[in-house]
Amino acid sequence: MFRSVVALLLLLLFLSFPVQANEVIKLRSAVMPEKTRVVFDLRDRPDYELSRPDPYRVLLEIRNVENAGALPGLGRGDLGKIVQRVEVSRSGNTARYLFTMKWAVSPLLGYLEPQANYRHHRVYLDFLNSRISGAPRGRDDTAHAPAAASPAPATSNPSTSGTRPAPGGSGVSGSDPAAITVLTPEEARKKQEEIRQSNRRVMEEKARKEAEEARLRAEAEAKKKAEAERLRAEAEAKKKAEAERLRAEAEAKKKAEAERLRAEAEAKKKAEAERLRAEAETKKKAEAERLRAEAEAKKKAEAERLRAEAEAKKKAEAERLRAEEARRRGSQTATVPSQTCTKKKIVIAIDPGHGGKDPGASGTKGTNEKTVTLAISRRLAKLVNTTRTMRAVLIRNSDVYVDLDARSEKARKANADILISIHADAATNKTAKGASVLVLNNDRAGRENRKVLNSSGKHDSLLGGAREVLEETAANGESNEYMKNMIIDLTSGKSRDAGYDLAGRIIKNLSTFARMHKFRPDERSLAVLKAPDIPSILVETGFISNPVEEKLLGSADYQKKIARAIFMSIQEHLADPRYKVEICH
Ligand SMILES: [Zn+2]
Repeated sequence: MFRSVVALLLLLLFLSFPVQANEVIKLRSAVMPEKTRVVFDLRDRPDYELSRPDPYRVLLEIRNVENAGALPGLGRGDLGKIVQRVEVSRSGNTARYLFTMKWAVSPLLGYLEPQANYRHHRVYLDFLNSRISGAPRGRDDTAHAPAAASPAPATSNPSTSGTRPAPGGSGVSGSDPAAITVLTPEEARKKQEEIRQSNRRVMEEKARKEAEEARLRAEAEAKKKAEAERLRAEAEAKKKAEAERLRAEAEAKKKAEAERLRAEAEAKKKAEAERLRAEAETKKKAEAERLRAEAEAKKKAEAERLRAEAEAKKKAEAERLRAEEARRRGSQTATVPSQTCTKKKIVIAIDPGHGGKDPGASGTKGTNEKTVTLAISRRLAKLVNTTRTMRAVLIRNSDVYVDLDARSEKARKANADILISIHADAATNKTAKGASVLVLNNDRAGRENRKVLNSSGKHDSLLGGAREVLEETAANGESNEYMKNMIIDLTSGKSRDAGYDLAGRIIKNLSTFARMHKFRPDERSLAVLKAPDIPSILVETGFISNPVEEKLLGSADYQKKIARAIFMSIQEHLADPRYKVEICH
């Protein structure tokens, strides 16, 4: 039934209008954000129909088309966002354009007659992009669509018009006819204006948005750039600081090393200088010491020469006096001594301790020291005088008192070569026992030497001829004090060395039969031993305070033994080349 109606209508249409062959000259499209417009350029007023097979497809049929062999189509690039594809086909001389859309859109259909600039008839289809805000919606427009006006294609309400043919117009049909709107040219222009304004708004909005976006982008870009710059600068600064730190560190290290080396070199130099200075100092000191020692040795040698000279002079003088004495006594046989030999015998001065008012120590049985000492001394003198080379001189030969200072003086006057003082010991402890030998100690010897030096003339005999020599040198402006001191020291030293050795020999010989109190010479400060020019010793023959020894010391036999031991010691002593005394033969 429907088909027959359509066929009838088509027949009526065919009859009403002379059949005029048409041509689809061109198919073009304009793709805009808010819509895609497809325009058909036609040579003559078209006979067309739009239908909608389903919500996603729109079919436009144009009848009486001549150029059936080559209908223009649209390239894929001309479709825009809404239209997915356009399928072109024909059915007899009807051209069929089937548009498939990406989403359901109500397209606007319009027709425009040729105008000043356009000599073609135009049919256009606007596919509005409903997804852009502000774009006019086809359905809304539909409601206000005015009634069809001749000669423009009539607007028909598809739900009522059905396929009613319009003169020179078109019919609209489809599964959803409400979605299709056909506008009068006036409406189309109005619509176009609206669309243009909408487009402008959209474009303005878009431009605004784009500007905003650009601004934000630029802002972000600037921010990013600034941040990058900041980071770069930061890194640069960090790098620079690190480099500076390393450079400073290296510099400091280098400086410290240089300083260390400099200090080292300085210290080395200083040490070397100090070494050289010390070396020079030592050398200088050694040289000074050498010179001093040399001078000292020279002086000592000179002193020794003077001493020897003085001694010789003294001896010669003594001999001369003795010879004179002999002549005065009228001895015709006395010979004048030769010039070179002045001494006929070695003089041993023997000093019996105590005497007279000074009894010395006493034994428990009443034995007096002075008696024992004289007895032993006499026995010793007797032994000495048995020799041809020695002569004994007793400081006292009876029970008389002799002053201590006078004893050594007497010995000197006798020209004694050795002085031996004989004593006996005593102690409250009666068991104390044994013999000992005493010599002068260092302190007393030094004191005695100074005494000699300070006394003028009194001890000329000590210096002998040396005094004259010394006075001559003093006249030449030289100090002779040192020389004098030296001479006395030499004399005293020689005497004490000899005395010490003699004491040792006596100890040795006594110890063969007597008990000994001490086995070494005992150094003491004793007036009797003070003569600096005579080797002097003191023999403590035993303890008279000890009853056993008192008895021994009182016996002639023991006294003889002691005297012999001392005598033997003297002989041994004088046989020693060091202590040999030259005498005439
Ligand atoms: Zn005594």
